Amino acid sequence: MHQPTYTGRFAPSPTGPLHMGSLVAAMASYLDAKAHHGQWLVRIEDLDFDRNVKGVDQHILHSLQRCGMQWEGDVTWQSQRQDLYQNALEKLGDQVYACACSRKEIADSRLRMGEPASQIYPGTCRGGLSEGKVPRAWRLRLPRPHHVIHVKDRYCGLQTQDISIEVGDFVLKRADGFWAYQLAVVVDDAAQGITDIVRGADLLDSTARQIYLQEALGLPRVRYLHVPVVNNDAGEKLSKQTGALAFDRGDNDLLHEALIPAAQFLQLPVSSSLTTIDQFWGEATGLWEQRMVDGLGMQR
Ligand code: GLU
Repeated sequence: MHQPTYTGRFAPSPTGPLHMGSLVAAMASYLDAKAHHGQWLVRIEDLDFDRNVKGVDQHILHSLQRCGMQWEGDVTWQSQRQDLYQNALEKLGDQVYACACSRKEIADSRLRMGEPASQIYPGTCRGGLSEGKVPRAWRLRLPRPHHVIHVKDRYCGLQTQDISIEVGDFVLKRADGFWAYQLAVVVDDAAQGITDIVRGADLLDSTARQIYLQEALGLPRVRYLHVPVVNNDAGEKLSKQTGALAFDRGDNDLLHEALIPAAQFLQLPVSSSLTTIDQFWGEATGLWEQRMVDGLGMQR
């Protein structure tokens, strides 16, 4: 069977409708897939049952279709793939350990060690749980004292992070019983044959953790491109709460109210005289190709 050489994806969490920030991420991943003549998948990351909002997954899918972004094959829902995450956890064997610490205990123990009370895990349970303690979360044992990961991001350039120092043994299965994003995203990207991850720069900081997990699980490495995050006028990341975009109305002009502004944010000078969504994608794909595939890069 013919294997595509490029497979990209958009992986929204169904915590709120598509907004300008998530539209920009979706658009960038879609354009990169089109410009590479690759395929584009959609995966709903609905593992945090406390944050999911009922019906929002369908709303996001409908909004993508209204914007002319059609995915290949079936949409996947992470909530239906939990066996895969369990298998991965088992495969990691004794690189995973049970942790009984609460957030407060982590902060207190760092203060006792004379370090800032951040949530970087001090390693209390690395050597086993002390008597009477019950496992809450499952963590990945990172090499000590240092483990530096380098990644060349197609937009942000070379990134370097010492995950042992800057992140610490991170959680793979949370105290509330939910699978952690970091594990699920790595397992699914590999299972779906993703070659290229294009997403918002708010996830740049997670990339080193994901590369470490890929290596620990023997999974292929992927290419990364993190696009700038849309900020509102107050300079805050445009979140699902603050950045609502009116996809709810059936009659709004998505071309001029959503697609063209999102493309302009991505520095794609599409002409404002476009009249159809098809024309928009044709022009935007060509501009993306010149800028991001033929190597001119985005202005930073
Ligand atoms: N589900 C994540 C989000 O909505 C994105 C994950 C990813 O692209 O790696 O922020």
